[in-house]
Amino acid sequence: MDCIIRNATVVTAGSVSPNIDIGIHEGRIVQLGGPMQADREIDAAGRYVLPGGIDAHVHLTAAGSEPHSYRWVDDFAAGTAAALAGGVTTVGNMSHPGRDESILTAVQRDAADGLANARCDFFLHPVLMDPTASELDAVAALHAAGHTSVKIFLSFRRFDRAVSGFLDAFRRIAALGGIALVHCEDVAIMDCACTMLREQGRLGAQHFPAGRPLAAERAATERAVAMGEITGCPIYIVHLSSLAALDACRAAQARGTNVEIETRPIYLFLTEERFAEAGGARYAGAPPLRSERDVEGLWAAMTQGSIATVATDHAPWTLSQKLDPALDATNLRLGMAELETMLPMLWWAGVRGGQLSMSRFVELTSTNAAKLFGLYPRKGTIAVGSDADLVIWNSDETKVIDGSGGYSNADFSPYDGWSVTGWPDLVLSRGEVVVEQGQLTDAARPGRGQLAQRGPSQRR
Ligand SMILES: [Zn+2]
Repeated sequence: MDCIIRNATVVTAGSVSPNIDIGIHEGRIVQLGGPMQADREIDAAGRYVLPGGIDAHVHLTAAGSEPHSYRWVDDFAAGTAAALAGGVTTVGNMSHPGRDESILTAVQRDAADGLANARCDFFLHPVLMDPTASELDAVAALHAAGHTSVKIFLSFRRFDRAVSGFLDAFRRIAALGGIALVHCEDVAIMDCACTMLREQGRLGAQHFPAGRPLAAERAATERAVAMGEITGCPIYIVHLSSLAALDACRAAQARGTNVEIETRPIYLFLTEERFAEAGGARYAGAPPLRSERDVEGLWAAMTQGSIATVATDHAPWTLSQKLDPALDATNLRLGMAELETMLPMLWWAGVRGGQLSMSRFVELTSTNAAKLFGLYPRKGTIAVGSDADLVIWNSDETKVIDGSGGYSNADFSPYDGWSVTGWPDLVLSRGEVVVEQGQLTDAARPGRGQLAQRGPSQRR
């Protein structure tokens, strides 16, 4: 055996088990409990040991990619450094084709860049921009190669230009046993809302939510859910932000439609009043921040289990890029860095705050994503045969968030100055200690990450 973690309190989606020894060999968990010996021992007394976080939704910029004028400031090396420091050992990156580029070329390019530069394991969601016959064939080829999910944006104008083609895509994905990740904001409604803002001269950042109104999210969510209902395609709603969209999903779930919900940290911690602050543009994401009532609704849905996952939608920019004076309420840069802070903040507010059990925390941050994206049980749990992707969690450590000092190239966090309790002490990725006391080790080198092997989407 290569390594033993002694005296662990092991937390999985199903149980909390004190005083367990975990035996690791060649990157996998080979024994839980019972006598064992190894050269290296790690004492986890007084600590929780969790399955490594799986963040199914990130945007890292691959070398050579041209994601539609969006060049986020983290590449695979920087983004996966931030991931590991925050206890995330697997990331699901959106693979955006460039202009006139096939989905197949985009995925091959991103896979090669990830293999050369990622510090942790990763998987890719091919983004379907054009539902042509050849691109749908490419979706099938990618599925056969283990890329068993597809991202579709209802917020792009091209969606409304090719709705029937996208319905064919949903049918095709359903027949393959895949899952569609869907961005739900209605583009025509948003275009109209932004035109009205321009006509009224309401272009300050405080008007950003009015340009991407709740009605756009609600309508697109209803539409995506209906498309899933008709085609049988499992629909994974990314970054759901509102009670209205949540209600649409829950009604569909109650009718037996296969709808899964992801939310994102900003919708759990921040409200729309932030946009009126000086520098409020830093909080822009799509959809916008919502009301306190929405925040409460999302927390209740996580407690109760209708939300499957929390993912970052890590889309990092520097503060000066976010606050660029050339931008206005209709075209702010969307997204922010969250990989380093997601798990600690959710633990602090959720587990310490008494709203989430530790097992629910593990479901939301690891197990459910592993199941939905075909990684389970190789990832997403602590079991014999699983990858030794483990986080030794110090539930008593308090740190003040400072985005300028993190591993992401974004030089700010939306939570700068917040004091948060509960951080990873030690992180193992396939048995290698990649983080010690919050710092990356020499083992966490770029290029050690693997393209995670995936099967079909599983029900959770
Ligand atoms: Zn995204």
